[in-house]
Amino acid sequence: MSLSIEEKRERWRERARIRRAAKPDDDKAYMRQWRKDHPRDPLVESIRAQTERMKYRLALIKVLGGGCEKCGITNPVVLEIDHRSGDGAEERRKNRTCEDRGWYLRASKDLEAKNKFACLCANCHKIKTYEMDEKARTNRIYPRLRYEDLTLH
Ligand SMILES: [Zn+2]
Repeated sequence: MSLSIEEKRERWRERARIRRAAKPDDDKAYMRQWRKDHPRDPLVESIRAQTERMKYRLALIKVLGGGCEKCGITNPVVLEIDHRSGDGAEERRKNRTCEDRGWYLRASKDLEAKNKFACLCANCHKIKTYEMDEKARTNRIYPRLRYEDLTLH
C-alpha cells in the first residue's frame, strides 16, 4: 500500500481532526489511550527492530569500505566494528551499548565515522586488540601475560 503525498496529508489531517474532537485539551492523554487501544504487536516490532539493526549495520560497514581492512573478507556475518582508538569498552560503558539500531544509524551518518571506526573481521579484530593490548587499559592491576613472553620447554 503506497499513498501519494497528498493522500498521506489528507489522512494526517483527518487523524488530527479526530484527535482534536476527542480531546481538545489533552493530546498526550489521547495518544496514550490510542496506543492502549492499538497495542503494538511484539513480534512485528521485534522483526522491525532486527531488520533496521541489520540494515544500519550494513550501511555502516559500507561507509567503512565494505570489508575487513586487513584481509578483505566481505561476509557481514564475521565483520565487526573496531574503535580505532581502542575506546570501545569506554563507549559501551557510557552508552550501555554499541550495537543497537540507533547506534549503527548514528555511526553510519557520522561524517567522522572513517576516522573513528574500522571494519575488521573477527580474527583481525582479535589480533588487533591483542597487539594494542587494549584490555590492559581497563582496570588490570597485574601485568598482562603475552604469548611472546612464554618460554616453552
Ligand atoms: Zn580480516
